[in-house]
Amino acid sequence: MTLRLSSIRLHLYAALALVVATMAAAILASQLGLAVALVALFGVLLRVIQLHTSRRERLVAMLEPVARAAAGETHVHVPAGADDEAGHVAAAVNRLLDTVREQSIAAHVERDLDLALVRETPNGLLVTDAHGLVRRANPALSRLLPVRGDPVGKRPIDSIPVADFQEVIDEASTTRGVCERTLTHGKFDLLIRAMPTADGAGCLGVVLDITSIRAAERARRDFVANVSHEIRTPITAIVGYAEALELERGRLPEDVLFMLDAMKRNSERLRLLIDDVLHLSRLESRQADLELRREAVAPVIAVVVERFRGVALQKGIDLVAEPTTAEALIHPDALEHALSNLVDNGVKYTSSGVVRVAVTTGERGTVLVAVSDTGVGIDVVHHPRIFERFYRVDPGRARNAGGTGLGLALVKHLCLAMHAEVEVQSAPGQGSKFTLRLPG
Ligand code: ADP
Repeated sequence: MTLRLSSIRLHLYAALALVVATMAAAILASQLGLAVALVALFGVLLRVIQLHTSRRERLVAMLEPVARAAAGETHVHVPAGADDEAGHVAAAVNRLLDTVREQSIAAHVERDLDLALVRETPNGLLVTDAHGLVRRANPALSRLLPVRGDPVGKRPIDSIPVADFQEVIDEASTTRGVCERTLTHGKFDLLIRAMPTADGAGCLGVVLDITSIRAAERARRDFVANVSHEIRTPITAIVGYAEALELERGRLPEDVLFMLDAMKRNSERLRLLIDDVLHLSRLESRQADLELRREAVAPVIAVVVERFRGVALQKGIDLVAEPTTAEALIHPDALEHALSNLVDNGVKYTSSGVVRVAVTTGERGTVLVAVSDTGVGIDVVHHPRIFERFYRVDPGRARNAGGTGLGLALVKHLCLAMHAEVEVQSAPGQGSKFTLRLPG
């Protein structure tokens, strides 16, 4: 730009010199007409040079404010000029500087908001780089976990001596997936979650304080357990009186017999419900941390099948246990309880055909124990919910069948306690198959 302006100016000055020289020659040669014309041309050239010089100076004057804006200064404007090209350029540059300023203010506001969120959140946050070294950590992290010194540039474990935290971060880095773990540290119950960062290079570790959630869960479980215990005593009394009346059955009138049967049926149902509720709350509170043993599953299946053989026979249903020599890592009582609930459901929700218990081998040495039936089946929309407490596909049918609504919830929790899984395959009119995946 400078070069081009200078060379234009040189040409103008050369032209001016030529005009002056020719004008002098014309005066000397007394060519007055030519001299007058050359004087006019001299005037025009002088004006052009003047204009050119002032435009160049105005353009050069814009460079300095633009350089300041580029260096980060925000409230900068170039001097506005006359209504010519340089003036138009100045106006355009000023508009551009205004837009850049507005955008940079908006970006700062957003960044400040993000920073405030990260600083003020009660959750601990930490980001690692591709080498597993800490890039950033927020203040809440040191409230929840012991952070020694500045963790930046070090491995998390070097400044946060909590092995679980480092392990979860390492696991997320290796698997490139979300990893979670709960732990109790000091007065806090914590949930640690790690996931790969959006750029894929490092990991984000989040530490959530779940102390109050845990406390509320404990209070709910204690309440349920206490209420259930309190109800158990009067129920036992009612069952006792019903049994006493049963002994006098022959002497009781027809309408009283009807009431006695209803009393027995309902108190038995209540007893089963309370047992299930108590069992479930024990499993949930991990009081029942189960010790697993490698054992044959056939004897457990045999006990369960024997228990339901009578009811199945009454309904005209075949109850079959396929022979197996499989062994799995189990807690026999917990497996028996889970299988009982599944076989009970199979018999309850099947009006004809067969309920079968069969064992196969799954991947990675797991043992699959499947209870299948030829009953009503379950629409796929209900599959994700049937393991919830008191969820019933057809409440009327389920109540008539005598269920407590807790059978599958118990199966799920028994499986969790045995490090096993349960899954369902079923469709209306096609029967159901519930499979327990036991560790081999
Ligand atoms: P319930 O005591 O009501 O049987 P469960 O928790 O055992 O409660 O089962 C939940 C619901 O799932 C049942 O109400 C029933 O609708 C459905 N269900 C469970 N097992 C079967 C099955 N084998 N066939 C058809 N439906 C079933």
